Amino acid sequence: MPSRKIADLVKPPTIEEVGLYINDEFIRAPVEFTILQTARANGIDIPTLCYHRDLPSEGHCRLCMVEIGEPPRTRLVNSCTYPVEANLKVQTHSEKVLQARRMVLELLMAQAPAAELIRDLAAQHGVYETRFHIEDPEERCILCGLCVRTCAEIVGVSAISMINRTPEKQVATPFKEASEACIGCGSCAFICPTNVIPYTEKDGIRTIWGRDFELQACTVCGNYIEPKAQLEHWAEITGDPVETFFVCRDCR
Ligand code: SF4
Repeated sequence: MPSRKIADLVKPPTIEEVGLYINDEFIRAPVEFTILQTARANGIDIPTLCYHRDLPSEGHCRLCMVEIGEPPRTRLVNSCTYPVEANLKVQTHSEKVLQARRMVLELLMAQAPAAELIRDLAAQHGVYETRFHIEDPEERCILCGLCVRTCAEIVGVSAISMINRTPEKQVATPFKEASEACIGCGSCAFICPTNVIPYTEKDGIRTIWGRDFELQACTVCGNYIEPKAQLEHWAEITGDPVETFFVCRDCR
């Protein structure tokens, strides 16, 4: 009885799939997959910071670089944006890849020296200090843009954006003032990989981006649900009366 792996090798790819090699192993993947999606679906770890499966990939952080091609003609590409191709040869942990990742981590350490996640990731790659200039030793934002994209593309309100140019580049509300567009949903803080967006909840008030949001209490159990502004946003999107959202998930 052939093992499943051998059977997989023998079976030709279907029309909707392509066959490629990751770390010398033959793998089939849907044609619409990227290298990163394929690797992860097959238990191959590639580190990422700016990737999220619910958002289009933009390849900002470059930590997910992999080596494609065959020696001596290989090159580094972002695995989160590079689509799979028939017979593509991919190395996820070659010396070239690890060297590039160490460089990216050094740059990130200079950008956000106070970010614990970056220090941990760097240490895992044998990087303990950076040769690059540190502008602010307290900085934790890596400027990955996940928060901005989440607010715009998932929440749909675009309350924050990247402002200024390097080295003053940062995420902020318009004119750095409390944004009228923000609904206080907290998605930006939740998705931030380095946990840098201040977010507090106390006595029925959520504070984020310099604005206080009154939380709606569940009309059945009394537990706080979400900010009233967020529920009004949901009501606007769905066309349902806002009261529809005044009962928490547990009491529905
Ligand atoms: S809390 Fe405000 S800025 Fe953050 S995702 Fe929600 S709406 Fe956007």
